[in-house]
Amino acid sequence: MGGLGTVGNPVRIGIVGSGPAGFYAADFLLRAKNLAVHVDMFDRLLTPFGLVRAGVAPDHQKIKSVTKMFDRVARRPGFRFFGNVTLGKHINVPELADFYHALIYATGAQTDRNLPIPGIELINSHTATEFVAWYNGHPDFKDREFDLSQENVAVIGMGNVAVDVARILAHSHERLAETDIADHALEALKDSKVRNIYILGRRGPAQAAFTVPEIRELGKLEECQTVALSSEVQLDPLSQLEVEQSGNKTLTTKLQIIDSFVDQTSQGKPKRLTIRFLVSPTELIGNTEGRIVKMRLSQNELYADDQGNLRSRSTDHHEELDIGLVFRSIGYYGVPLSYVPFRDDWGIIPNEAGRIEDMDTGRQIEGHYVVGWIKRGPTGVIGTNRPDAKETVELLLNDVMAAKHLHPVRTQPEQIVAELRTRQPDLITYEDWLCLDAEEIRRGAAQGRPRVKFTSSEAMLAVLKAQRSSQDLAACE
Ligand code: NAP
Repeated sequence: MGGLGTVGNPVRIGIVGSGPAGFYAADFLLRAKNLAVHVDMFDRLLTPFGLVRAGVAPDHQKIKSVTKMFDRVARRPGFRFFGNVTLGKHINVPELADFYHALIYATGAQTDRNLPIPGIELINSHTATEFVAWYNGHPDFKDREFDLSQENVAVIGMGNVAVDVARILAHSHERLAETDIADHALEALKDSKVRNIYILGRRGPAQAAFTVPEIRELGKLEECQTVALSSEVQLDPLSQLEVEQSGNKTLTTKLQIIDSFVDQTSQGKPKRLTIRFLVSPTELIGNTEGRIVKMRLSQNELYADDQGNLRSRSTDHHEELDIGLVFRSIGYYGVPLSYVPFRDDWGIIPNEAGRIEDMDTGRQIEGHYVVGWIKRGPTGVIGTNRPDAKETVELLLNDVMAAKHLHPVRTQPEQIVAELRTRQPDLITYEDWLCLDAEEIRRGAAQGRPRVKFTSSEAMLAVLKAQRSSQDLAACE
């Protein structure tokens, strides 16, 4: 066996999580110059690609094409995918350290920020993540139910996720039927009675978190008229100054698009999407059955904090809206992993540029790294994960060269497979995923859709079993 990083003794890296951050990290690792690196990627789901599959809206197929690049990474020599393996259940961090020189956590931000207002626990109050995961066919959310018999729906928050949720509610059945939305969601949304959708932002148009392509799209919905109120679109003096000083052309474009929504009439469209600025829900009011019937809102004003950031605070003005269904979309939040430090206040793993740090001493924990939303918080688009992963991988490789790494004792490539199979007989490989992928696409083609997703692990395992028994694996390629 040669020195570490030679073909006979490759640097062995385990990546936990197969979303964009994990795949960009794998890409940089496998392209390391003059160093043989092997990557094993784990996911608790049977399918790879994280939020590209379970988060990106089904009507945004172009964004999903990034999986072609991830697929090229996965087909490189030295890469393996182990799906259906849950960290902490099938294998834990100290056990993984027996197999790898370094571990990278790429587990994203799997839950939501809290919105502690009275009534948030009422029936028909949901997080956006639940709804997004449901319409995207995430197996854990397939049985969720959303009361789409309600006419008035509020989406709290003004980021791109809020826009996605509003758009899915606004689309016609025909439009959704062209996408890879989960079949159960397509069916439920077909009977939707939703007519009025509100997106509620606590600050003004100049601070809206959504991006230009997303807000522009809201002006082009076939069945839904997007409107804004002139009184709320008018910039306050602080925002006006901020916009002028920033010289940010993208922001100016965004404001122009928002302006174009002011006082629009329905134009014969059956649904209406109202973008409200400078309002904060302060209470959800329920009926005797505990179902939401109204939302109380405070009207807000902006002020500059000590750092000059424009923040919202409520005024004495309040109002009530008739609302029967609420989605809160105020940002994702990370989930801690056993044996890995976690910052509760930020929802991330404490790190310096991707090197995980001990919470008490601030010292680097050798051999443990982090990428993506669990590294930096839930911000940025898919591509943001590329430079993020590059930063972590460069440090990791520097550390390996400086002999700062874990010291695995089980370095034969088959050892981890054998270990996993004893703990998870239904271990999923990348070849298995290719079979599932081909089958989903085949089913979609029959309906003129990009794919028809499997939404349960049982269904996926049954397909793989059938294909294995028919010895027809080649047909999946
Ligand atoms: P986000 O962009 O951070 O937006 C969160 C929104 O929630 C902001 O409007 C924020 O307002 C608001 N908010 C936070 N706390 C609140 C509170 N207590 N009360 C009321 N409102 C509150 O988060 P996101 O929409 O979840 O998106 C996450 C990331 O994924 C973003 O970077 C986004 O661009 C990206 N993404 C991209 C796409 C796409 O490219 N098409 C699609 C989906 C998501 P403040 O600004 O006042 O804090």
